[in-house]
Amino acid sequence: MNDLEFKQQVLDTKSASFCAAKWYNATIWLGSGMSTSCHHPPAHKIDDAAIVTNPSAIHNTAQKKNDRKLMLSGERPAGCEYCWKIEDMDRDAISDRVYKSKIYSIKALNDAYNTPADADVNLRTLEIAFDRTCQFACSYCNPAFSSTWVKDIRNNGPYSGLVSDGRNHFTHTHNSAQLYKFGEVNPYVDAFFRWWESDLHLTLQELRITGGEPLMSGYTWQLIDWFKTNKGKSNTRLAINSNLGTEIDIDRLLESTTNMDIDLYTSNEAISTQAEYIRDGLVWDDWANNVERLLDSGQFRCVHVMCTINALCLSTLDQLLECITNWKLEYGRDAVSFTLNILRFPSFQSPLVLPDGIRTKYRDQLADFLTRHAAADYMHEHERNHLQRLIDYLDVVKTPHSDTFDIPSLLNDFKQFYTQYDHRRAKNFSTTFPDLKEWYNSL
Ligand code: SF4
Repeated sequence: MNDLEFKQQVLDTKSASFCAAKWYNATIWLGSGMSTSCHHPPAHKIDDAAIVTNPSAIHNTAQKKNDRKLMLSGERPAGCEYCWKIEDMDRDAISDRVYKSKIYSIKALNDAYNTPADADVNLRTLEIAFDRTCQFACSYCNPAFSSTWVKDIRNNGPYSGLVSDGRNHFTHTHNSAQLYKFGEVNPYVDAFFRWWESDLHLTLQELRITGGEPLMSGYTWQLIDWFKTNKGKSNTRLAINSNLGTEIDIDRLLESTTNMDIDLYTSNEAISTQAEYIRDGLVWDDWANNVERLLDSGQFRCVHVMCTINALCLSTLDQLLECITNWKLEYGRDAVSFTLNILRFPSFQSPLVLPDGIRTKYRDQLADFLTRHAAADYMHEHERNHLQRLIDYLDVVKTPHSDTFDIPSLLNDFKQFYTQYDHRRAKNFSTTFPDLKEWYNSL
């Protein structure tokens, strides 16, 4: 059944707004006690009182139950506007409502539809963050997701002079993102582990741990240890995001995950000193060695390299992709893969701030890479598609500056931010990015 047939025959016959993600999928931030389903709608607060007796209330919140009620009667929850916008463009447009429902069986969809809206439901796919502990402070991250970013703001004060940072990502320490330290009783973490023991380990198909840096969180190791000592008790596939930095205990990771069904997701989008500039805390050689150690072990389903496409990674992105290609040739197509995710926020770090000539040069580098590798067996279809999508995005003809895209404000913020970033992090933009030096100095 293709996507349109699935939408028309499976989803729309239930209701015009039914989406199984509201029942079976969640992203939950246990450090701040926030939850959402799927990841698109704004996060909302978990009810502290409800989780005392019902740990599943970290997912089955009053808001989600109300949203399910709306979906069962064909009305649209406001938080899901990401999907409604797409569906309003064309009656047959395929929104994430289709993709995020299609991963479950027809029986599971019928069960959700026939379950009263106010009933508690066990999750099937879950992404959780235990806390924001992280030894990196990447330029496109912020204190809500990194304890090292918190130290930057605490030690040096807010970044100043930014006009496009409407959400104030770089001006305060986001204390609400981390209500409890490791070792303190965190009622949300406590509820997660209680729910995990009672039901989740039986119903979850996939559990993905994000952060911060999950492998610096004691709770992640607690969970990995659970799998180790309860072999065969759960069919949940584990996926862990990790920056694979110098401090990550790879020996412990390899020893703890033997014979587990596990995926590893890591981030990088450039090589060498440019990667180290963008992802402050990273040591390129250590990252590459750690990836190779995981690949050598052969015990991960796949090592996925997630590239966050920003203005600074483009001059060496093609070299990173060559490096990944070499790994594919050595370890096999399915051992390692990449995704190219175009950064939208902070918008002043978007590739669209670059002058047309430089952007075209980088576009041509990627087009050349694609021409040389597109037909090869080791390329996944999604990798070809992501490359083509990025090439189109960087095309100066196909991507005219829209009226709403306030380039002068973004250029102001680009210069303001990286001037302060250099000073705080002992870095040097001009020597690290010689291609961009003249343009940067002219800003
Ligand atoms: S309707 Fe769209 S935004 Fe809402 S939960 Fe489903 S996939 Fe997510």
